[in-house]
Amino acid sequence: MEDRKVRVRFAPSPTGPLHIGGVRTALYNYLFAQSHNGDFVLRIEDTDQTRFVPGAEDYIINSLKWCGIQPNEGQGFGGEKGPYRQSERKGLYKEYVDRLIDSDHAYYAFDTSEELDQMRENAKKMKMPNWQYNGVTRGSMKNSLTLPAEEVKQRIDSGDDYTVRIKMPRNEEVRFHDEIRGWVIVNTNNMDDKVLFKSDGMPTYHMANVVDDYLMEITHVIRGEEWLPSAPLHVLLYRFLGWEAAMPKFAHLPLILKPDGNGKLSKRDGDRLGFPVFPLEWTDPATKDISSGYRENGYFPDAFINMLAFLGWNPGTPQEIFDLDQLTAAFSLDRVGKSGAKFDPEKTKWFNQQYLRSKSDDELGKILAGFVEGEFDPSFLANVASMMKERASFPIELASGEYFFQAPKEYDEKTQRKKWKAETPDRMKALAQTFEGVEPFSSDNIEASFKQFLEDNELGMGAVLPNFRLLLTGKGVGPSMFRIAELIGKEETIKRIATGIDRLA
Ligand code: GLU
Repeated sequence: MEDRKVRVRFAPSPTGPLHIGGVRTALYNYLFAQSHNGDFVLRIEDTDQTRFVPGAEDYIINSLKWCGIQPNEGQGFGGEKGPYRQSERKGLYKEYVDRLIDSDHAYYAFDTSEELDQMRENAKKMKMPNWQYNGVTRGSMKNSLTLPAEEVKQRIDSGDDYTVRIKMPRNEEVRFHDEIRGWVIVNTNNMDDKVLFKSDGMPTYHMANVVDDYLMEITHVIRGEEWLPSAPLHVLLYRFLGWEAAMPKFAHLPLILKPDGNGKLSKRDGDRLGFPVFPLEWTDPATKDISSGYRENGYFPDAFINMLAFLGWNPGTPQEIFDLDQLTAAFSLDRVGKSGAKFDPEKTKWFNQQYLRSKSDDELGKILAGFVEGEFDPSFLANVASMMKERASFPIELASGEYFFQAPKEYDEKTQRKKWKAETPDRMKALAQTFEGVEPFSSDNIEASFKQFLEDNELGMGAVLPNFRLLLTGKGVGPSMFRIAELIGKEETIKRIATGIDRLA
């Protein structure tokens, strides 16, 4: 076991868009594989055809690609242990189910869903709300353990619907060591006879999952906490199929919780509090409802991944900014916590802001080009971006200074009320005159002449700067006025002062 090559898998069901919890599971699998020079496999678990949603599989693949956490094997990525879609592996499972039946670890059950509902109803009336098909109740149900052998054969031959259930042993301890939670011990008396296979030829999740993990030589199963209750059943299946030596190690990841810590983070929390819970925008094929995505909201994939990595893991040092390579180097399952991780929308923005600020002005200029109409010189855009980035968390905010591209059409009311006085027009005309003589028209020179102007006229900053800003940008706040003036140039600066004075008169 120890010398096996590390192989992990991400095994989503294509039942809708991938929730960020799923992306985090994929991320941890990716990091674990990378840090052990192992393989990361994508397997599509689509045995429950009633829950199949068209487009979901492509969505999953595109999301992983956008995040940069691509599997090196699996559905959409090739490999030798395929097919990687369980519906295409349909013919493969029966053999193992038969093996379980032959070794008396599983049996046929013929109870219809109406009969099962009836049993549950009756039990409820007798104040036993959680009726289960198990070691106690199976004796009074219609199955190959209670019916005569000929009847069983005749029912199967004549095409009656059946399921195959695991024959849960009585009063045995199932134990396994979870890499995150430590020893997990469950008594089989608390486990039911889960369905493993149906007469339509499809295995259930449990059967398909275990058989595929075995056939795909998976060494570590890293998945969400919601699968922890299924793990003892999976351990038993490995035992009953004689695969114990090849059983993967298990690691169940903590839940991602709502921002207030009360319960699992859901799509509804995102809608209510205004943040996406999906990596990419998703249009529901049935209802046409649109759910927003991180990508469309202006998140950088590396910021998104960095944020997700910290939901349940920490490096044990104060460092918070990690790119994918750094995460790979720092990641280990030992530092994944047991308790739920609260999702923090503000911290998520903070990560994006850090990544935005760390980009070069040229890079940001290119990003900005996508948000403005018309052709602009790349160095002009880089300059605008460099001024705006201090105030931005998202690319679109780099474009919020329209005044870089055109003269203001409106002037901030509040600044007018507080700062625009009877003497202001003459003062601003004089300032414009001062600027005429500034050569070259650089921000340092503009600043020096501006300060000289204040001194010569015995004026304070507060009496002139806000009005200068108002005339040039129409705003009450913003980046350095001297840099703005330099960037739009002397002619435009003087022109905006003159037009502004006329319009505010
Ligand atoms: N198909 C399961 C899911 O949708 C996979 C669980 C597992 O990783 O075993 O999450």
